[in-house]
Amino acid sequence: MFEHFTAYAGDPILSLQLAYRDDPRPEKVNLSIGLYYDEQGRIPQLESVQQARKTVLASTEPSVYLPMSGNPAYCRAVQRLLFGENSPALSEGRVATIQTVGGSGALRVGADLLRRFFPDSQARISDPTWDNHRAILEGAGFVVQTYAYFDYEAQRLNFDAMAKELDQLPARTVVLMHPCCHNPTGADLSAAQWDVVVDIIKRRELLPFLDLAYQGLAEGLEADTYFIRALAASGASFLLANSFSKIFSLYGERCGALSMVCANAEEAQRVLGQMQQAVRRNYSSPPAFGGSLVQTVLDTPTLRAQWEAEVETMRVRMHTMRTRLYEGLVQHHPAYDWSFLLAQRGMFSYAPVLGPHMNRLIKEHAVYIIDSGRICVAGLNEQNVDRTAQAFATVLK
Ligand code: PMP
Repeated sequence: MFEHFTAYAGDPILSLQLAYRDDPRPEKVNLSIGLYYDEQGRIPQLESVQQARKTVLASTEPSVYLPMSGNPAYCRAVQRLLFGENSPALSEGRVATIQTVGGSGALRVGADLLRRFFPDSQARISDPTWDNHRAILEGAGFVVQTYAYFDYEAQRLNFDAMAKELDQLPARTVVLMHPCCHNPTGADLSAAQWDVVVDIIKRRELLPFLDLAYQGLAEGLEADTYFIRALAASGASFLLANSFSKIFSLYGERCGALSMVCANAEEAQRVLGQMQQAVRRNYSSPPAFGGSLVQTVLDTPTLRAQWEAEVETMRVRMHTMRTRLYEGLVQHHPAYDWSFLLAQRGMFSYAPVLGPHMNRLIKEHAVYIIDSGRICVAGLNEQNVDRTAQAFATVLK
């Protein structure tokens, strides 16, 4: 019956993760997968989340189905985190939010909805982007093309090319964007550049689909929402998928949300109904446990403050490690201009120049990067950063 099923090549990043796990060399360094590791190389258990877990586990409530749109208190807390406590869009009731199965689930539900209601639209993703963006959009039936984003030669954002290309797209083109911590490049737009993008979106009536998986890890929890809030204030309609996998260190609990910013409250109610239907015919309702942890943290002032400090610790550590990597590279390979690294933010650095050397880095140096040259800076720590810089310098010379 299933003879015609072809073999799945697997996900290259997840395959590398397995190879790393099975590598017996003690000095191995994992810079391949997008996971946050602490200075000791461990995936942290956030103290705020641990506290919330005690509260949630103490509950004697039975495990009933959540509504299709998830836990209402979670959705409200998520909205305030993303759009701000005093957001006009929220007080006007123009934002419809559902709890989703991680950020990926939000992307997929959003893509399904867009495909259904905009059957003539094409989708655009940045060149490059997280590989699963293409897979999810194509999986929903979209024809997917890219828009200019990165200058591979200069290894920096190419904003002029990006703006020029966006400004030529047909109305209602679905444009996938990263509000902060661009994956894989770490190259973000400035506030002034986002303002230009908002203007183009409005003028050309584009349909933005924002993907926020690293809020707080570029400049801070509030600052990283600049584009989201500017777009909401502009009156544009858009979708926003967000993930808590990294910033709550809750990868396996699959916590995320999909928000749709609408023209008015009445439209938001209709849109919410369609979001619910999209969920119903897919997985029916999201899992409850992780969402209650996140909601408890967000809505308990002491835990909230603790969590914000924990996110800040992650942000600062990654910034420090990127700077230390830069300094090591300047020392070990001064002939090369490494300044592009300092313009990058968040969990990743991107050095396409290293991509072709992936196999040597793994085989000869036990340094795991992926073949695009993306480096997860959270895999660096004081013990391994200099050795990593040395390995990079060696393969490039
Ligand atoms: N978007 C981006 C840009 C990501 O990097 C990730 C996680 N790697 C996701 C979405 C998916 O998030 P989740 O793991 O919560 O599904």
